[in-house]
Amino acid sequence: MKRILIKDIANKIGESVKLAGWVDVRRDHGKLIFIDLRDSTGKVQTVITPGNKETHEIANGLRPEWVIEMEGEVKKRPENMINPELPLGGIEISANKISVLNKSKTPVFEIGTNGYEINEEIRLKYRYLDLRRERMQKNLMVRHNIVKYFRDYLSERDFIEIETPLLTKSTPEGARDFVVPSRLHQGKFYALPQSPQQYKQLLMIAGVEKYFQVAKAIRDEDTRGDRQPEHTQLDLEMSFADQETIINLIEDLITSLVKTLFPRKKITRLPWPRLTYKEAMEKYKNDKPDLRNDKKNIDELAFGWVIDFPLFEYDEKEKRIAPMHHMFTSPKDEDIGLLGKNPLKITGKLYDMVCNGHELGSGSIRINDPELQKKVFEIIGISEQETLDKFGHLLEAYEYGAPPHGGIALGIDRLVAILQGEPNIREVIAFPKTGDGRDLMMNAPSEIAKEQLDELGIEIKKGKKKP
Ligand code: ASP
Repeated sequence: MKRILIKDIANKIGESVKLAGWVDVRRDHGKLIFIDLRDSTGKVQTVITPGNKETHEIANGLRPEWVIEMEGEVKKRPENMINPELPLGGIEISANKISVLNKSKTPVFEIGTNGYEINEEIRLKYRYLDLRRERMQKNLMVRHNIVKYFRDYLSERDFIEIETPLLTKSTPEGARDFVVPSRLHQGKFYALPQSPQQYKQLLMIAGVEKYFQVAKAIRDEDTRGDRQPEHTQLDLEMSFADQETIINLIEDLITSLVKTLFPRKKITRLPWPRLTYKEAMEKYKNDKPDLRNDKKNIDELAFGWVIDFPLFEYDEKEKRIAPMHHMFTSPKDEDIGLLGKNPLKITGKLYDMVCNGHELGSGSIRINDPELQKKVFEIIGISEQETLDKFGHLLEAYEYGAPPHGGIALGIDRLVAILQGEPNIREVIAFPKTGDGRDLMMNAPSEIAKEQLDELGIEIKKGKKKP
């Protein structure tokens, strides 16, 4: 017999089926033994009667989280045994054969609860067990559905997904780079991308026109609340597009996603309100205002746009002018004249998507003129030599027919967390790191062997900084 999934048994009353999965709970009711069997698609109650001696004996020895296979008949539950709370609460399997595929140690924590009550470090160390709980399985599934929606929606509108490299050169987004030492080119380093920014712009110059990618953005930031050193973005870029085109595209994408996948949620205002940066700061003292009518309503989604950001800000710590977003953002046409005079007064073609007090995405129309780009580098204090070393390839590419272009990146982790009503993004990431960047399950980061260091030509300084 071929194994079928638990979700597919509902219309098989009276038929024999073969199922496989984990023992969720075992209950002994006198002579009858009940096993709740769980697979990735659901749970079903199974009953083992003492009549079948061998199977009954096996059932008697089963413990939670053992992996079993069973054959049995799908039956309607007696009227008084129906559980309307469960999707398959009206049926049960009368099992006549059980085999144990693998045993399990007693799990280190409860799997049948929502898990919020368990110490998070332990949950992260045993993430493969933690992910078995229903809430986490649901989060993984919903995340998959959201990403699939993005892919389908954009593919239908002529976007193509292109992978850009992970081993690359720094594309600054305002954080430190994670670096990877090169063995073949000793003394040299790759940087992991803070975003695919330069590649996606180069793809526009390459004639792609509509690009997207479900991309990892990797940033070495100090512990900052609910952040992860690597997060996933829906990264997108379009040629011949202005701010209006990109804003409308994303607004329609997210609105239709919510209506399709989360019909219970209510979007506060349609079309989404737009505020200038100045308005947001004056009215809400915040550039990611919470625009909800009722902040207690978990089903309310107040999407909005904050536009007209200053192109630069003054970085008090570094005592220099820094880009508000990143250095590839175009100034508004009418402000280009201010570049040499008063850069802090320039408005950028820059837009942020906000939702319920979070920044969910950020994008801009880019510079596509090498002279203008050089000017921006100069204002933020990048020397001519450094410009050439770091961004020479981009400036050169601009000389070969760079179309006007712009894009955006949406934070997928945060979006899923908001839509799922989760308190932090770790709940919607399969294998997240702790706030201070450790993977407790894999024990990363970790030291590497002396031979590996030797091959890389690296020596660790004595008295290295302890975290
Ligand atoms: N690269 C930017 C970011 O990660 C997004 C963009 O400008 O498209 O924030």
